[in-house]
Amino acid sequence: MTPDTPPDLLSMTPIELRSALESHFTSRGEPKYRASQVEKWIYERLGRSMEEMTDLPVTQRDELAQSFRLDEPVSDVVQRSEDGTVKHLWRLSDDKLVESVLIPTESRLTLCISSQAGCAMGCTFCATGWGGFDRQLTAGEIVGQYRASRRWAHENDYGSISNIVYMGMGEPLANRKALHPSLTILNQGYGVGARRITVSTVGVIPGILELAERPEQFRLALSLHAPSSELRRELIPLEKRYPLREVLAALEHFEDGGGKRITFEYTMIDGVNDAPELIELLGDLALRVSAFVNLIPFNPIPYQKWRPSKPERILEFSRRLASRGVSVAVRETRGQDIDAACGQLRGHTLSQIGLKKSVAEISE
Ligand code: SF4
Repeated sequence: MTPDTPPDLLSMTPIELRSALESHFTSRGEPKYRASQVEKWIYERLGRSMEEMTDLPVTQRDELAQSFRLDEPVSDVVQRSEDGTVKHLWRLSDDKLVESVLIPTESRLTLCISSQAGCAMGCTFCATGWGGFDRQLTAGEIVGQYRASRRWAHENDYGSISNIVYMGMGEPLANRKALHPSLTILNQGYGVGARRITVSTVGVIPGILELAERPEQFRLALSLHAPSSELRRELIPLEKRYPLREVLAALEHFEDGGGKRITFEYTMIDGVNDAPELIELLGDLALRVSAFVNLIPFNPIPYQKWRPSKPERILEFSRRLASRGVSVAVRETRGQDIDAACGQLRGHTLSQIGLKKSVAEISE
């Protein structure tokens, strides 16, 4: 991107978009309602280019294309699981690759989106963490995954996307410059309810505090994965910088905002973080911030020999947490036949097309 690159319409919040379009059209002697026409193409018709905006005169479409960009990620690979889960690999304008996943259930269609190309956090249980960091996504590239997925879902009889989770590649709170406008755009522009949008973090405290200040009731998921600092440090290197006790204090502040729901994500790895004596500790943390606990059987990745916890151990965690009054669910593992763990599809494709170190090299 150079300083001469035109601004991206998809990265603008609704207020910024309105103002940019109105000044564009009025400076050309065009009526202000042209701005509403373009807004409709952006938020409702999900237009992919200015050329599609056929209710605008051709000269206006050309001038719009000279003044602005409308860069949506292009679908590179689509994998469809037997259980209906769909994984997209998107190619960005500079050929970087990111993933998103559509997860249908009986009552909802959830889209999991990426906030960074790669990730610098290095969590040991995560395929993306092993692949390293490429770059931050722009707000438009985050929103673009939603637009392109929504279109795909419509064309393939998947219905409407009801929920969005920032749980794909990257740590969203390490890309707050793009995260905040993307939340505003999805909520105010595309009409996705704040309570239907969840931001996931491994515990970036300044980001949690910033999210707490927002008036909307976006939800927060903490990738907890261990209820003690010592154990957590082995899974999540960021624990050294932001220790669990301080993360919990930030979560209490977030919860104080009122009506803001917190979820703990707890990936269950056989013999690593599933000892029965951890259940009490996990329960204590959950009760402290009224967190809902999601127990997730570990999804094996190519670089680790770890296995998911045994079903009876997962059940024991679930039963004992529930008996203490903790809201808990065992999350179904979805899309195992399509490289479902975060970062796997990208890892495989990168190795196939030789853009980066192959998976084999990374795992050595
Ligand atoms: S779990 Fe999330 S934060 Fe950790 S390496 Fe993977 S993508 Fe990054």
